Amino acid sequence: MTDTIFGKIARGEIEADLVYEDEDVVAFRDLNPQAPTHLLVIPRKSIRTLSEAGPEDAELLGKLLLVAAKVAEQAGIAKGGYRTVINCNAGAGQTVFHLHLHVLGGRALQWPPG
Ligand code: C5P
Repeated sequence: MTDTIFGKIARGEIEADLVYEDEDVVAFRDLNPQAPTHLLVIPRKSIRTLSEAGPEDAELLGKLLLVAAKVAEQAGIAKGGYRTVINCNAGAGQTVFHLHLHVLGGRALQWPPG
């Protein structure tokens, strides 16, 4: 198992600006926000990247999406629209190898992303 900064946040070993937590999932504010609201939703379980998730993770992956919708609603960005993003592996921009889902909103978002 590879440890990362997000693994430490998931285990409560370092602080983050948490907006949600339960037994399986933690959500917190991104330190370098790319939109007025930029949240990260992570599983407590260490999964390096989406392509390494397995069938045993199906329920957990669904929960990540449901928590994303919940924190977006709580942050007040649901009505105006928000985007969820998972960067999978370095070529797509993944820099922290603990699976995480970005939730971005609070401004107009362009498509396609860069
Ligand atoms: O998808 P990617 O791996 O590039 O996203 C990592 C995200 O984690 C970045 O948006 C970065 O700002 C954020 N980050 C953070 N706190 C850290 C390290 C990275 O919020 N200590």
